[in-house]
Amino acid sequence: MARYTGADCRLCRREGIKLFLKGDRCYSDKCAVERRPYPPGMAGRKRPRDSEYRVQLREKQKAKRVYGVLEKQFRSYYELANRQQGITGENLLRLLESRLDNVVYRLGLATSRDEARQLIRHRHFRVNDRVVTIPSFRVRPGEMVAVADKAKELGVIKGALISSQRIEVPGWLEVDVEKLSGKVLSLPQRAQIDTPVREQLIVELYSK
Ligand code: SF4
Repeated sequence: MARYTGADCRLCRREGIKLFLKGDRCYSDKCAVERRPYPPGMAGRKRPRDSEYRVQLREKQKAKRVYGVLEKQFRSYYELANRQQGITGENLLRLLESRLDNVVYRLGLATSRDEARQLIRHRHFRVNDRVVTIPSFRVRPGEMVAVADKAKELGVIKGALISSQRIEVPGWLEVDVEKLSGKVLSLPQRAQIDTPVREQLIVELYSK
C-alpha cells in the first residue's frame, strides 16, 4: 500500500505545529518544530501570504498528515462523511478517529499512529478476538481491541504504555492496562477529538 516515506518532522515544520508523528521524540528537546520553527527550505525568509485556498489546503494536508492517510483514501473518507447524516466535517473526523491504527495509538498501546500501523501489519493486534492486519480497519462501538498473546512481551508495546502516561485516553475509549486491551465505548463527539484541525475548511475545499 502506498504511504509517505519522507521525513516526518518536515511535515510538522511545513504545517508550523507539532503533529506528534514520532512518539517520544515529539516530547523531547529534539523536536524539529521547536528547534527550527520555520518551514523546510525557508530559513530567514517570510512565509507566503495566506489566500483562502491556501488556508483550506493546509488544513486538509494537516489532517492527512496527522492520521497518515494519502489523498485518495482521504477523499474517500470525505465522500463517505458527506453521505452520512449530520455535519460532514465532524463525520470526517469521526471516520478518521475510528481507524484501528488511531484507536491503538489513543489507547496508549503505540507511541504514534505510524508505530501502531507497523504493529498492526505484523499481526500484533486483535479486534474481537480476530487478528486484524489492516491499519484502516474501522472499529465500531462495543468492539474490543487487544494485543495478541504472542506480542504481550514486546518491548515496544511496554515502552508505549510507559510513554503514553503523558497522554490522556479519550472518554470514548476504555483501556485495561493489565490486559493490554481496550474497548470502544462510543464514537467520539467533536469535543472529544483534540486534533488541531478546522474540519469545516476541508469541507469548503472539497465542495468547490
Ligand atoms: Fe513533529 Fe514529533 Fe518531529 Fe516534533 S519530533 S517535528 S512533533 S514529528
